Amino acid sequence: MQHDTPLIATIVAGLGLAFLFGAVAQRLRIPPLVGYLLAGVAAGPFTPGYVADQALATELAELGVILLMFGVGLHFSLNDLLSVRAIALPGAVVQIAVASLMGLGLAMFLGWTVGAGLVFGLALSVASTVVLLRAIQERRLMETERGRIAVGWLIVEDLAMVIALVLLPALAGLLGGNSDALVADPLASRLGLGLWGVLLLTFVKVGVFVGIMLIAGRRIIPWILHYIAHTGSRELFRLAVLAIALTVAFGAAKLFGVSLALGAFFAGMILSESPLSQRAAQESLPLRDAFAVLFFVSVGMLFDPASVLREPWPLLATLFIIIVGKSVAAFLIVLAFRHPVGTALTISASLAQIGEFSFILAELGVKLNLLPTAGRDLILAGAILSIMLNSLIFAAVDWLSRRLERRGGVEVSGSDAQMGQVAAPAKSSASPDATRLTGHTILVGYGRVGSIVADALKRSSQPFLIIEDADNVVAKLRESNFETIVGNAARSDVLRSANLGGARYLLIAIPEAFEAGQIVQQARTANPSIQIIARAHSDAEVEHLKSLGADIIIMGEREIALGIIHNLFAWQARSAVAQG
Ligand code: AMP
Repeated sequence: MQHDTPLIATIVAGLGLAFLFGAVAQRLRIPPLVGYLLAGVAAGPFTPGYVADQALATELAELGVILLMFGVGLHFSLNDLLSVRAIALPGAVVQIAVASLMGLGLAMFLGWTVGAGLVFGLALSVASTVVLLRAIQERRLMETERGRIAVGWLIVEDLAMVIALVLLPALAGLLGGNSDALVADPLASRLGLGLWGVLLLTFVKVGVFVGIMLIAGRRIIPWILHYIAHTGSRELFRLAVLAIALTVAFGAAKLFGVSLALGAFFAGMILSESPLSQRAAQESLPLRDAFAVLFFVSVGMLFDPASVLREPWPLLATLFIIIVGKSVAAFLIVLAFRHPVGTALTISASLAQIGEFSFILAELGVKLNLLPTAGRDLILAGAILSIMLNSLIFAAVDWLSRRLERRGGVEVSGSDAQMGQVAAPAKSSASPDATRLTGHTILVGYGRVGSIVADALKRSSQPFLIIEDADNVVAKLRESNFETIVGNAARSDVLRSANLGGARYLLIAIPEAFEAGQIVQQARTANPSIQIIARAHSDAEVEHLKSLGADIIIMGEREIALGIIHNLFAWQARSAVAQG
């Protein structure tokens, strides 16, 4: 039966195995992502047992890339993109050049041709969209300056790769490969264009696509969504979001030769200017996460574990280029642009891996007879290992930032947020790592709810601190001189620096009950006597938080209802008095 439904079998095997391996990884305190990759290895052709359909898995993974980039676009305005161009453009270009040269060097050493070296080097120079975005989102860096630089940098890399993919077939003959093997652009070959012609045509196509999006897309897409939103059908709205993201991405790829990822990014960016974007982003979340998982599974499937033993030294050298070479280059470039060390470290870490574009480039190189298959295997192994190591590198960077910070004298965080760091009020001498308060109140979240609570605490002169993770909010907090810990309160290191053990009250004023639950659970374990008030929005959430140990749970909607009733009755009482 299995061969009758290969698509279903691939989805089931991909998601099922990923879930199993991911859960085991989580249990062993390894990032689940490593589990997804290993699930791919297990379903791949190089390990015994079940073999999933590789081509289908790769295609499904593309959906994940589209939805991820669409989501990024939703958080990104044109102004954001333009605001980081001063560093992202030269940064990406220099980094691509450095990585390509190093790759070329290794290729020469291995006795390959210059053409092979160039393809190899280019493939090592471009980071994976999925891996970078996951890392940035997990650390809630999307709204920070360093997050924006990393994404802008990635967009430039993607654009460079689109150009490389188009030019490579045209250049193949020149580089000693076989240009007849395939023709990149039917239009270019029909017009009989040379190298410069192909380059020009590519630029014109990308330009036309961006132009159409900015002029027509900007009006039509928000209009469609507004129209659908007013019909009141949630189902249709969801469908509209998905249809727009996929159609624009596909159209961009088919009609304009722009990559699927870039097309989706632009669709999202157009939407980000309309107030509906927040809802649109949320509607695409569940599907996005599921398909992003399939991306990692499909990468794992390409990996032959035996290749590590077959050629250990070239592989080590490849990894060195990806992880050390690229990082050092990025680090120095970011510093040269006078950004803080913390920003440089984050950017280096997020780019110290390779992924989907590298595979496409390697595949094309082999087809054009430019790259030996050994080169493709090295790129694959380098990708999977660098993706696995990426979380470790991020952990190392977090550790290093904190150490530098503690030593003082080095501006690590600059204007943007640094995880778990205390932004103490100017007049206090609190250590940069943990609070000195005891018997205090910890307030999580400084939004619509938390800011009102904080004002009341301040008026009553109680000792308290605030944990908040959104950059723009933190800036406001700094101005008002509240003691603040920057970071996601669900993380144990962030909670620890708030001195949970010595605190008296914990007030959780964030809307997300799942995260609130994690905070309650950790707080209860660390301090059995702490009194916890939490915020919820449904009866199920109230139950959840209660079961984890919160003392009092305020259900927002219930308080609103009480407020409405109270005001209505007050009116009625007043008019009764007036009439009587
Ligand atoms: P509001 O819903 O307007 O009260 O805003 C909630 C606030 O809590 C926002 O400022 C968020 O940035 C902040 N917030 C949400 N989740 C977390 C978290 N896990 N850790 C720290 N701050 C958070």
